[in-house]
Amino acid sequence: MARIVYVNGRYLPYAEAGVHVEDRGFQFADSVYEVCEVKGGALIDVTRHLARLARSLEELRIERPMADPALRHVLSEVVRRNRIRDGLVYLQVTRGRAPRDFVFPGPDTEPTLVVVARSIDPAKIAAKARHGIAVKSVPDNRWGRCDLKTVMLLPAALAKENARAAGAQEAWFVDEKGFVTEGASSNAWIVRSDGFVLTRPLDARILGGVTRSTLLDLIKQLGVPVEQRAFTIADAWAAKEAFVTSASATVMPVTVVDDRRIADGRPGTLTVRLREKFHSMAEKLPT
Ligand code: PMP
Repeated sequence: MARIVYVNGRYLPYAEAGVHVEDRGFQFADSVYEVCEVKGGALIDVTRHLARLARSLEELRIERPMADPALRHVLSEVVRRNRIRDGLVYLQVTRGRAPRDFVFPGPDTEPTLVVVARSIDPAKIAAKARHGIAVKSVPDNRWGRCDLKTVMLLPAALAKENARAAGAQEAWFVDEKGFVTEGASSNAWIVRSDGFVLTRPLDARILGGVTRSTLLDLIKQLGVPVEQRAFTIADAWAAKEAFVTSASATVMPVTVVDDRRIADGRPGTLTVRLREKFHSMAEKLPT
């Protein structure tokens, strides 16, 4: 089946879709994005994704391409036209196209909106979750506004490549004080030996993950003790369980950190429970 991509008001065949060479997303990474899970044909937590998008746009003074109801419609339409049941829908908004100049272009510059959807075999992610993943730590060399979901992803791409070369599936960024900030494309969590779930508090060093916030709701509902507190790699080694969260993998067990096993090296029981229950807490919007 031909894949369909949305670009600036048009639904185009994948091979024909493109943006201008002087788009500021291309030249300056002057651009923000969102990735929303699609499960059983429904958009997961789309309200929170669009709220975060609005915040990223506002902080960077990029114009909104359209109001939220219209954006939900485009997301649904791309999912529908590509017949995605399980997968991801990706959207990117750039400041638009203008002759290359560092300073912002004039107010008549229209933002660029691109929406792409892709199927993912849920069995593949489930198989990964049964084993758990290995992570590798790397120094956090990103900029000071990691709370904004920009496409400035080169440090994350380098970190992931570094992890892959070391046989790991995710990288954990570590700050100057030795605390884990977050994963290259996920938030980082541990379950301490006293049963407390720990994840770093929100600040400009990490992205406020949508999966993170929904999972915090679930953890509270289950009455599991939780603390938003930074932890080190040594804390992770001493932990009972570790996991990462992201829209693409929801709750993914971490069983190895820097070549050392966490506990017995198998996915933790609380992690598995949180993974199983995650979608009971998440918002589901049929497409
Ligand atoms: N941190 C970073 C740096 C990410 O790229 C992502 C995934 N987009 C996350 C955290 C997790 O965010 P979410 O749960 O909204 O996917």
